[in-house]
Amino acid sequence: MALNVIMLGPPGAGKGTQAERFARARGIAKISTGDMLRAAVHDGTEIGLRAKTIMDRGELVSDEVMIGIVRERLNRNDARAGFILDGFPRTVAQAAALDELMKCRDPLIILDIVVPEEELVRRLSTRLICKECGHNAELGHIDVTERCVICGGELIQRSDDSGTVVLERLRVYRTATKPLVDFYRVRPTFRSVNGAQAPDRVAADLAAAIVEVGSH
Ligand code: AMP
Repeated sequence: MALNVIMLGPPGAGKGTQAERFARARGIAKISTGDMLRAAVHDGTEIGLRAKTIMDRGELVSDEVMIGIVRERLNRNDARAGFILDGFPRTVAQAAALDELMKCRDPLIILDIVVPEEELVRRLSTRLICKECGHNAELGHIDVTERCVICGGELIQRSDDSGTVVLERLRVYRTATKPLVDFYRVRPTFRSVNGAQAPDRVAADLAAAIVEVGSH
């Protein structure tokens, strides 16, 4: 049975970090729509050029574009054997489209990572990512002299992790994405995990939740 996982939770909840660890541990595809968009911006593609201004404001790229990107990605061979989605779905329309894409596939496991808002603001305003590979540095403080543990690249602050953009992203989360918790809560494969713990503890809770909802 393929392990098909989505992670809900606000920006800064640790979705990216946990998805990366989980995908590596289980040998499944990690699909991060934020990473895909940042790569498109970096490469200067048409989607990247259009997405950049939206991302810099902390708003959401259109459902149509996002659903197209995810549909194409889920159809690739590696994702057929299982995946963990980070940052998608972010709206009820995206969630409904994902249900359509999942017809004839193993059921979705939905993990919601819960973190109080004060903690999110603190985390987002101090996090750094690698300029080269996009890896999240788990520093908890701004230290630009450190290098990426994956590729040795320079660590920088994400352009949307500063000041008012963080507050806008949290507002967008509350209005557009949080309703997904109610959309999914009724499913037997939905679990909430406390994300305000050390990353190892969160990883252990996520793994336990997956064991509980399916026989993985
Ligand atoms: P993230 O790295 O997941 O925080 O995503 C960074 C930014 O990319 C978001 O603030 C949005 O502008 C955009 N983005 C990523 N995923 C989605 C999505 N599923 N729907 C709409 N916009 C998205």
